[in-house]
Amino acid sequence: RAKEAGRARYEVFDSLMRAGAVRRLEIVNDLHRALERDQFVLHFQPQIDLRTNTLIGVEALLRWVHPDRGLVPPMEFIPVAEETGLINELGRWVLRAACQQGRVWLDRFPDRQPLVMSVNLSGRQLGQPRLADEVAAALEDSGFPPHLLVLEITESVLMNDTATTIQTLEALKLLGVRLAIDDFGTGYSSLTYLQRFPIDILKIDKSFVDGLGGTNLEESAVTRTIVSLAKTLRLETVAEGVERSEHVRELQSLNCDIGQGYFFARPLDAGALTSLMSQPDTPVAALGVLTEADR
Ligand code: C2E
Ligand code: MG
Ligand code: MG
Ligand code: MG
Repeated sequence: RAKEAGRARYEVFDSLMRAGAVRRLEIVNDLHRALERDQFVLHFQPQIDLRTNTLIGVEALLRWVHPDRGLVPPMEFIPVAEETGLINELGRWVLRAACQQGRVWLDRFPDRQPLVMSVNLSGRQLGQPRLADEVAAALEDSGFPPHLLVLEITESVLMNDTATTIQTLEALKLLGVRLAIDDFGTGYSSLTYLQRFPIDILKIDKSFVDGLGGTNLEESAVTRTIVSLAKTLRLETVAEGVERSEHVRELQSLNCDIGQGYFFARPLDAGALTSLMSQPDTPVAALGVLTEADR
């Protein structure tokens, strides 16, 4: 095989590329149809207040209920949706669905502490001047209070187009929503944007949380640094990908505000989250035994 001519190799590569393109086109068609046919659902992953050990919010995570393939995770279709611009329509749907569900829970559990709803935005959505209007419309139409909505954006988005991005973020802030940086620590290392952009929350990436709870102090250095930076800047911290009780213990000793991860609960469908909320002030121990609603 090592002797194969470059040309033959090129043809193999080319046919793979073409298969990729066809597959891609199929996905785009499928996605359009899926939107028309209402095949998207949101799952909701609990977020736990690490001081009180109670449920304080959820992150809305998109799933495609494919007629043949079952539950398709976002990483298999969001990149295509981003490339083709379909993410704007899809993102609008997510915002509306999340606000509506948030409102349903507020009405259903008036005596509970109101749940914060976090929604992921793609970079492409942030490049859209109409984004703030769309968020405003989703809030108004659902009656979901702006102060309970968090919009998550990734670090790299902040490095793209600074002037437009700042304008869009300021417009969002004027609505009264909060902004979080997702997967914090994995992007560009210049931290000056933390002062330039109106950020409220840092979500510490799973890769740093993974190192917590051991005996090696170096492994928790990044998380410790992020939490202390956040305190200085008066930002809230959310640890992502909390999987073990040792993670929880160290996060609590570092004074990280909020935890999210399989240790507490997997992303759950709306029904499962409703039953969770029906229990009086859900203790963390009960959350850990919940079954996977995904996959
Ligand atoms: P993300 O926003 O960083 O979301 C966290 C991801 O980590 C979710 O994967 C979640 O299920 C997973 N996760 C949570 N806890 C744990 C844990 O303890 N261990 C491990 N191994 N994983 C954990 P998911 O739902 O597959 O979503 C993947 C990514 O897709 C999200 O990452 C987000 O970037 C994107 N995404 C999801 N929904 C949307 C959406 O509505 N719009 C956009 N633009 N992106 C979305
Ligand atoms: Mg997120
Ligand atoms: Mg994340
Ligand atoms: Mg992530």
